[in-house]
Amino acid sequence: MAQTNHTSSYYAASANPTPERPPLQGSHETDVCIIGAGYTGVSTALFLLEKGFKVTILEAARVGFGASGRNGGQIVNSYSRDIDVIERSVGAKQAKLLGDMAFEGARIIRERVARYNIDCDLKDGGVFAAVTAKQMQHLEAQKALWERYGHTQLELMDTRRIREVVDTDAYLGGMLDMSGGHIHPLNLVLGEAAAVESLGGVIHEQSRVIRVVQGARPVVHTEQGQVTADFVVVAGNAYLGGLIPQLEAKSMPCGTQVITTEPLGDALAQSLLPQDYCVEDCNYLLDYYRLSADKRLIFGGGVVYGARDPANVEALVRPNMLKTFPQLKDVKIDYAWTGNFLLTLSRLPQVGRLDNNIYYSQGCSGHGVTYTHLAGKILAEAIHGQSERFDAFATLPHYPFPGGRLFRVPFTAMGALYYKMRDRMGW
Ligand SMILES: Cc1cc2nc3c(=O)[nH]c(=O)nc-3n(C[C@H](O)[C@H](O)[C@H](O)COP(=O)(O)OP(=O)(O)OC[C@H]3O[C@@H](n4cnc5c(N)ncnc54)[C@H](O)[C@@H]3O)c2cc1C
Repeated sequence: MAQTNHTSSYYAASANPTPERPPLQGSHETDVCIIGAGYTGVSTALFLLEKGFKVTILEAARVGFGASGRNGGQIVNSYSRDIDVIERSVGAKQAKLLGDMAFEGARIIRERVARYNIDCDLKDGGVFAAVTAKQMQHLEAQKALWERYGHTQLELMDTRRIREVVDTDAYLGGMLDMSGGHIHPLNLVLGEAAAVESLGGVIHEQSRVIRVVQGARPVVHTEQGQVTADFVVVAGNAYLGGLIPQLEAKSMPCGTQVITTEPLGDALAQSLLPQDYCVEDCNYLLDYYRLSADKRLIFGGGVVYGARDPANVEALVRPNMLKTFPQLKDVKIDYAWTGNFLLTLSRLPQVGRLDNNIYYSQGCSGHGVTYTHLAGKILAEAIHGQSERFDAFATLPHYPFPGGRLFRVPFTAMGALYYKMRDRMGW
């Protein structure tokens, strides 16, 4: 049978050694069967195992094959839409629960890295960079909002101060979040998968789920085997395809692209980002970048709605990198790749249950490194019988994309064009 390996990326090339797990064969029983071994699936498995559940993860390709093994590595707090939007669309109690959880994912990552001794180049400090005066005002309001929910460690930066942390004149100012930071994303999920196995969890790779038969004990089928479980967790996100048709209508897979330079050497790397923080700008179609442990610049940006793979990723992203850092014009790009995240119309995650025993969390709309770790915790809590925090997410309103499945890509691209223009004009 054809094997699907990690996409060719800097992360795959610098991954810690990891075993290949055998595909599922034959019939098995477990407490919880999880579909997908990205952060959502692996984080849920770890929390469940820590609570004493038996867990089996079925992964279509390799652990971390999806967005979790190829993202920008930025630990960004809160959600893709901020708490003020949540406050306006739900009641005060629900908004309080969601606001209180907005920084928990980053804490979970740090706890996991410490507890399981995961080697993933964890660094503290993330910068939100304002390109326009309007974005700076938004950051000021965001700081006040986050502090209202007890999230501190935030510093507003004026034009002079941001130049001390990133060597570009592209920004008017920004905000530093010392509880943000960055990681080698693939090594994080590989380390978490090893932790799952150390607690007795089972992971099968090259085991695409082709059917889920709902019932009192759902049965999850692959080509060569099946798992009967008390609960199923669907964690396939943008790579799930049409496996669960009910989950398709209110989300859309989108591609985003990343390039990685050759090693820059200590002096040049330190001149770009002296404190080694990661940076993302505040544009709707945002750029995000950071240094790797071996002093390359990892630079991502752009969105392809509908997740078509662009023919030449370097041609797409390199001009943005040079706009920010013209001093890199002679630097070679060693790696370029694309990956898919799942967009919802509200840009808030889609969480819920089908039939009371099939749980799902998906659609964190581009900011998922922290949220997916939190998702693992709230899914495990709900399966364990405590669903207050899960319900706070599960009752968020979600709507289908305008244009239905046929026209959602052009409609959304048109919307994004409008926001891009707005960013450029500073409206
Ligand atoms: C290029 C890129 C850059 C990004 N940068 C950042 C960033 O810097 N910071 C940030 O916060 N977020 C970032 N994100 C978003 C973040 O990476 C994702 O939100 C997060 O990793 C999603 O994790 P997940 O486990 O839900 O999904 P995934 O990591 O995509 O995992 C889903 C897994 O399910 C498997 N699967 C799917 N269907 C089946 C099936 N039928 N049977 C078995 N297995 C199946 C897939 O093979 C895959 O391994 C980025 C995303 C991309 C694509």
